[in-house]
Amino acid sequence: MKKIAILGSTGSIGTQTLEVVRRNPDLKVSALAAGRNIRRLEEQIREFCPDYVAVWDEKDALSLREMVKDSGIRVGFGMDGLIEAAAYKDAQITVTAIVGMIGIRPTIEAIKAGKDIALANKETLVTAGHIIMPLARKCGVKILPVDSEHSAIFQSLNGEEGSRIEKILLTCSGGPFRGYTKEQLAGVTVEDALRHPNWNMGRKITVDSASLVNKGLEVMEAGWLFGVPGEQIEVVVQPQSIIHSAVQFTDGAVIAQMGTPDMRLPIQYALFYPRRRQMDTERLDLFRLGSITFEKPDTDTFRGLTLARRAMAEGGTMPTIFNAANEIAVAHFLAHRIGFLDIYRLIEECMDSHRVIADPGVDEILDAEKEASEKIASLEG
Ligand code: NDP
Repeated sequence: MKKIAILGSTGSIGTQTLEVVRRNPDLKVSALAAGRNIRRLEEQIREFCPDYVAVWDEKDALSLREMVKDSGIRVGFGMDGLIEAAAYKDAQITVTAIVGMIGIRPTIEAIKAGKDIALANKETLVTAGHIIMPLARKCGVKILPVDSEHSAIFQSLNGEEGSRIEKILLTCSGGPFRGYTKEQLAGVTVEDALRHPNWNMGRKITVDSASLVNKGLEVMEAGWLFGVPGEQIEVVVQPQSIIHSAVQFTDGAVIAQMGTPDMRLPIQYALFYPRRRQMDTERLDLFRLGSITFEKPDTDTFRGLTLARRAMAEGGTMPTIFNAANEIAVAHFLAHRIGFLDIYRLIEECMDSHRVIADPGVDEILDAEKEASEKIASLEG
């Protein structure tokens, strides 16, 4: 029996992780954490019988305690609750499927408590990769990627210890606005941005996919996970989302992982690594597919990737500024307060006014997040 904790259990990755649990009776849920969706959390408590759950708000915790008082489960809240779930004593592996930089502290505490990490929460690695990766090595825990591209790279590297990577080919669907001009992008709506052609994901990452900010975050995530500099990570647009990413080695060989787009595969792979398990998903039918096409990304129009590469090159607190400014700008966009192209404008203004701190600690990272938030408040009111 493998015991797991899931942060963000009510979200897109969280619920798909629970689907994997449902199909594998030797997985047991020890702890769950979520934000505001206590109705869904109650259903999850009744179905998966964890020992501990946490929500963000104290009032929600009180309501949830009342709703599940017959179960005898413990309910915590706030950052302490999130950390207790992340480092839950019984769990062997923690799935970080929470959205945003709020994942930094719980991930660090889970690592210190010796839990392997199935990492979906890329914002944590982007902003605190220089803390997380050495800490994981020191504590002897594995960081197992859940993001489909990084899982594909991880799978392509399996058995290649000692081989040298020439470059990583990070694939990208191009999102719903592939081929759009700047003028067209200026007029897109929230509903247009939420219509991803291949993947069904949470709202924030879906907007990030449309702006290519997500691909920028993924370049940084790949840099930390695989120890490869940005210049050796090439983004390749592959609109069918069939090749999930590839690695080119120094002998010219390219090894890729392919499959139909289904997040349950990388989630299950992370949970059972290094073994593969049976999974009843739609199989890849190459004859029906016919062809796979490739394009270069339009980084002049989709500046999310360009700004991310700049943040990666400048390093220190700059990736935090990039990420935090984007989180706030996307929240404004989703609330219909700004246009799509304003996301890039706000990120760039925050980056331009920031003075980089090299090798920041967690407090300095969180200060940089606050700086971006204050800057956007001063610009947008
Ligand atoms: P969702 O928005 O669908 O889910 C986010 C989860 O985080 C929800 O369970 C939400 O709870 C929870 N949450 C938010 N704020 C808090 C908080 N303060 N305390 C505790 N829990 C909180 O996001 P996704 O599942 O799409 O994405 C999660 C992460 O995985 C992101 O970092 C994303 O970049 C990454 N990722 C996602 C992929 C996907 O296919 N969806 C693919 C690859 C990576 P509630 O809803 O109850 O408020």
